[in-house]
Amino acid sequence: MIETPYYLIDKSKLIRNMEKIAHVREKSGAKALLALKCFATWSVFDLMRDYMDGTTSSSLFEVRLGREKFGKETHAYSVAYGDNEIDEVVLHADKIIFNSISQLERYAERAAGIARGLRLNPQVSSSSFDLADPARPFSRLGEWDVAKVERVMDRINGFMIHNNCENKNFDLFDCLLAQIEERFGSLLERADWVSLGGGIHFTGDDYPVDTFSARLRAFSDRYDVQVYLEPGEASITKSTTLEVTVLDTLYNGRNLAIVDSSIEAHMLDLLIYRETAKVSPNEGPHSYMICGKSCLAGDVFGEFRFADALKVGDRISFQDAAGYTMVKKNWFNGVKMPAIAIKELDGSVRTVREFTYADFEKSLS
Ligand SMILES: *Cc1c(COP(=O)(O)O)cnc(C)c1O
Repeated sequence: MIETPYYLIDKSKLIRNMEKIAHVREKSGAKALLALKCFATWSVFDLMRDYMDGTTSSSLFEVRLGREKFGKETHAYSVAYGDNEIDEVVLHADKIIFNSISQLERYAERAAGIARGLRLNPQVSSSSFDLADPARPFSRLGEWDVAKVERVMDRINGFMIHNNCENKNFDLFDCLLAQIEERFGSLLERADWVSLGGGIHFTGDDYPVDTFSARLRAFSDRYDVQVYLEPGEASITKSTTLEVTVLDTLYNGRNLAIVDSSIEAHMLDLLIYRETAKVSPNEGPHSYMICGKSCLAGDVFGEFRFADALKVGDRISFQDAAGYTMVKKNWFNGVKMPAIAIKELDGSVRTVREFTYADFEKSLS
């Protein structure tokens, strides 16, 4: 048995998402790029590469990783590039998307060898959480003034718009896209390609993938553009667990169990977005609050039900632990980082990365 904690990526589950993505690509004509900011565990790129068109990025390091580890089509985007990184970004990218007109003007020449685009902000989104809402008031994420964008059309041939966030609702996607068409139609008509970003949960159960694909195709036909999707979470949803072990139990008015992991260090978004982890089946007479081992008082995975009383040494699997976890893990409290293991299609499990004291030491000086 592999020592906990570790993230376990199950390729047979990953493939279910990949097949849905491949289906949408085929039906809609859209291309699908993996958003590396959500998931960049390159050991499974050999599998994902066959179902997706490439990667998109948020930084120099991500665009380089995408080029070197995934290959195929590589898009570069960043909220802002620096003078010391732009040449290397261009070297690794097939397309570069600037966040602002001023960044475009500053680097248009240095990026003249590749396709250039601009991020548009339609000022509407599906997000209800201010922290993650690209359309929040005064948002820095993209340009929204059509007249200003028209003046730089000679230097770009495409756009990126990312305003869906965890959007499981096709009608809402459809409505937001209609608003984009209304607002930016004159710009879209002059573009060769449009990326609709990520945040569309089209690999989820019951998502109407064929209606979605038809909508994408209609959009693509109307403006005569190549459509791109940038699925992060949708690519890897429900493919991975975080495997942990109970280190201690105590009763302080409730049953508590402490495990060898930490939400702050290993599943940070639970903390940021005030969500609880998922345990399956979460049934039985015994209820426990499962707590992390960092010293943060609120380091709690959630309260779950178990068939038997928990004891030291028991293992627990947190479900749906692929997105925004491995890319965000950190050394807070010096808690041992989870290893990364892959369950192959034949059922065998191999550990592809372990983190040691030396990695902790090297992360500081
Ligand atoms: C975050 C992000 C994505 C991926 O979002 P998911 O919700 O993980 O699908 C794609 N494109 C852009 C521009 C993003 O900022």
